[in-house]
Amino acid sequence: MVLHLFNTFFWSFFFAIGYISIYRRIEEGTIRWYRSKQVMLRFGELALVVYASSVEISLRILHHFLTTNLWTMVNLQTVVALYTCLTLRNKGANLLFLLVTLATFGSYGTLTWGLWLALIGLLIILFVVNLQSAWLVGSLSRYLAFVLPFGTFTWLLFKAFYAFSWQSLLVQLFCYVCVETIVFQYSILLKNRGAASAKLIYETMHDRLTGVPNWAKFNQDFQLYHELMLSTQINEIVLVAIDIDHFKQINDTYGHLAGNAVLTSFAHNLQTYIHQVNSEWEVYRAGGEEFNVIMAEIDQAAAKQVVEAYRQQLHELHVMYEGNKINVTASVGMTKLQGNDVQAEDTIKRADQYLYQAKQAGRDAVIAGY
Ligand code: GH3
Ligand code: MG
Ligand code: MG
Repeated sequence: MVLHLFNTFFWSFFFAIGYISIYRRIEEGTIRWYRSKQVMLRFGELALVVYASSVEISLRILHHFLTTNLWTMVNLQTVVALYTCLTLRNKGANLLFLLVTLATFGSYGTLTWGLWLALIGLLIILFVVNLQSAWLVGSLSRYLAFVLPFGTFTWLLFKAFYAFSWQSLLVQLFCYVCVETIVFQYSILLKNRGAASAKLIYETMHDRLTGVPNWAKFNQDFQLYHELMLSTQINEIVLVAIDIDHFKQINDTYGHLAGNAVLTSFAHNLQTYIHQVNSEWEVYRAGGEEFNVIMAEIDQAAAKQVVEAYRQQLHELHVMYEGNKINVTASVGMTKLQGNDVQAEDTIKRADQYLYQAKQAGRDAVIAGY
């Protein structure tokens, strides 16, 4: 019995860890892919359904052609079915997966009518559970409160129809509980690790003071836009360089912290305004009191109107700091990304030249050029 237990646990354990690791990789990979391609969620989930289904079908084939223990197979398949149903977010994708699960279990050929009905009942439970899965996987106790009765009922059902020994039932049930607990903990570990690395990436791409994307993010995005334009996937991109006027004076008069408050208010004000006009456009802090905006799919004349309107409404921004009312104006240089801009720097330099001209012209002005 000990050897039997060890055998089942050994295969279930490594199988579950491997299954989840690859599942998470696909999940992260497709999330990144469908975000960049702006494809809807369900196409990404389809990749997970294909993966989960092919694992189930492989288990079935292995059992058919090799003499791998049937009950270990059923255990592995239950792990796959449960984990997948608790993580898929799309109802359609889940339904598709459950149909494949039904077909693979059904193909054992030895199912009686009663077992068919019970199996369909269990899959319906899984379908319903999928709708509440976020709540269920929120804590280990909630997770086990579902997984334990579900597993016990499933195995008792198999025992009733196949009359295997109580000893085998206990071995399978024990392994099932152990593996499900490990699955939960491991899945939380992967999720936390994923969240930590996402946080790290977010922090390296955002400015700590103002919270808007930083220079590194600007470079990354601008390179991408540059490539998209060269491959004609985007027709027009306008780069805007904005610099707060006489910012040094603000620092000198009210102090560095007041300067920080002005930077933060200005960044939020600009970002809110730009996102209201077009949520795809982004504001970046280029450094110090300089900001950039990338506007895609707009001609320069229209872009200039947007920026000019912003410059005027900026007169209404009054930053309050320790009882002082600080007014802000900004100068703007803007230019179009052109096909013969070999490097992103060529465009940036041009925008800076127009910004310089706006400063020379007396500040609080917008100058656009090609
Ligand atoms: P201009 O109208 O010509 O742009 O003049 P300016 O005073 O805005 O420009 P200048 O380049 O002379 O000064 C920018 C100042 O911004 C100098 C620097 O100390 C200050 N600065 C840069 N980063 C920060 C920051 O994070 N916080 C604060 N408070 N000040 C900053
Ligand atoms: Mg300045
Ligand atoms: Mg400056």
